[in-house]
Amino acid sequence: MALLGAHISASGGVDKAPQRAADIGCQSMQIFTRNQMRWDAKPLTDEAVSGYKAALKKLPPSFSVIVHDSYLINLGSPEPEKLKMSRDAFLDELERAEKLGVMGLAFHPGAHLNQVSEQECLKIVSESLNWVMQQCPKGKVKILIENTAGQGSTIGYRFEHLAEIIEGTDYPERLGVCFDTCHAFAAGYDFRKKSSYQQVFQDFDNIIGLQRLKAFHLNDAKKGLNSRVDRHEDIGFGHVGQEAFALLVNDPRFEDIPMVLETPGSHLDYEKTLVLLKSLVKVPQPS
Ligand SMILES: [Zn+2]
Repeated sequence: MALLGAHISASGGVDKAPQRAADIGCQSMQIFTRNQMRWDAKPLTDEAVSGYKAALKKLPPSFSVIVHDSYLINLGSPEPEKLKMSRDAFLDELERAEKLGVMGLAFHPGAHLNQVSEQECLKIVSESLNWVMQQCPKGKVKILIENTAGQGSTIGYRFEHLAEIIEGTDYPERLGVCFDTCHAFAAGYDFRKKSSYQQVFQDFDNIIGLQRLKAFHLNDAKKGLNSRVDRHEDIGFGHVGQEAFALLVNDPRFEDIPMVLETPGSHLDYEKTLVLLKSLVKVPQPS
């Protein structure tokens, strides 16, 4: 079944993250490889990369890793200077992810800041991705567009947006999607019951294609359906509720796909939530 995991702190170095993840029962993890609130970053040293790879080798080969990009990056920025900074920073993110050899790099598509239309903003994101992929032509890391809650002027809250970004690039084979459950719910996608769950993923398949779905962010939502508010809640304590997560972790289509928690709290809280999620799985989990 799904590879359950969490967002893991890489403080002290990315090489520390794999063991931290394993210690709390993760079968996958998400990390930042640079300070997510700063534009500048120290280069990833060879020692950090080799330390990371050695730490990863101690874990099962199925252990899956994704990187999340910096929160400052806006690949759809209508402001030329910010757009250039974003593209440069995102290229650095991708090169770091390639060095580590992770499966995917998740990013929030961007925001139009009420200066251009959503349509134009989506086009800017596609152009940004084209530029970045051209700079890194042999890249193997999947670039994962994350669906958003549609808070403020962010784009990416409709499946159609994600499809449009992908179709607007010259290298669609290098792109995938990271599905954030809190964001989807906040954007109006209701997957709380079996029938509505099936419908949401049918829509996803029709509009984007399920083969593009490469990762999940498992988060409950602090606010209600279609609130357009991006506030994560602990699994089972928000408006989504436990049943939806039971459907997700038992869905055979999402076997071997990393599902990482980004819920509030510490690694200890994640450990408890992972126990809960594993208890929802109806077939025995390999440890
Ligand atoms: Zn997320």
